[in-house]
Amino acid sequence: MARYISLYSGSSGNCSVVEENGKFILIDMGKSARLTNKALTELGLDIKNLQGILVSHEHTDHTAGLKVFLKNLRVPVYTGWATADYLTARDMIPAHIEVNDIDFSGFNIGDFYVKGFETPHDSVGCMGFRIATEKGRKMSIATDLGFVTEDIFNSLRNVDLSVVESNYDVQMLKEGPYPYYLKTRIASNHGHLSNIQSAQTTIRLIESGVNKIQLCHLSNNNNTPSLALERVRKTALDSGIVIGNDVQVKVNRRHEITTDTEF
Ligand SMILES: [Zn+2]
Ligand SMILES: [Zn+2]
Repeated sequence: MARYISLYSGSSGNCSVVEENGKFILIDMGKSARLTNKALTELGLDIKNLQGILVSHEHTDHTAGLKVFLKNLRVPVYTGWATADYLTARDMIPAHIEVNDIDFSGFNIGDFYVKGFETPHDSVGCMGFRIATEKGRKMSIATDLGFVTEDIFNSLRNVDLSVVESNYDVQMLKEGPYPYYLKTRIASNHGHLSNIQSAQTTIRLIESGVNKIQLCHLSNNNNTPSLALERVRKTALDSGIVIGNDVQVKVNRRHEITTDTEF
């Protein structure tokens, strides 16, 4: 079995692991190298078996730890060309690190096969990923996106596990403390997914046969894990689906490791 483990998740930092047989890749690194290394040690993952790092986009909650983390390592980074340009031009990745541009064809990172897909977000570029392990297990992840196009949905489906953003509760965002321009940005087509959008995507994924879903990148100010889960439960019930029977839906924790999900 392969494992997906979120080390931390949300606007204060995102990082997750995809692992099989001890070998692993990382997706994003938005907190310090120290915190990230501590979490990897807790999980018993040996840094020697890290095969590469995928970066979804340049925002600091996805990149802040990279430079220090990579200082004494020789691990390749993979990201979209615009993000690669941005990170290298601003010295956010050490010069000795190999930074690879991802196009939309698939590529190998060690024992993993990865395909990137474009997502709409207010960054220079943003990507979700489909990852297949050596043993043929498959997962998909889409974080930081304003809406889910048919192409994105098709990239997310047909996997053993899908990780989807569930950033904000519409009511909490509306009534919350953020300035108007920020509320508009978050709710725009280049912002983040609401619980409603996420739940609709989740149910469509379940109907298409995915039975493990993990919700990620919950807002600290505009959401709670129970609101996000409740929205999925209600939307599922409307379609006659009971979460918890054959279908597992989990929420990534903000500052702590989320118990690993086998897929
Ligand atoms: Zn983010
Ligand atoms: Zn972002």
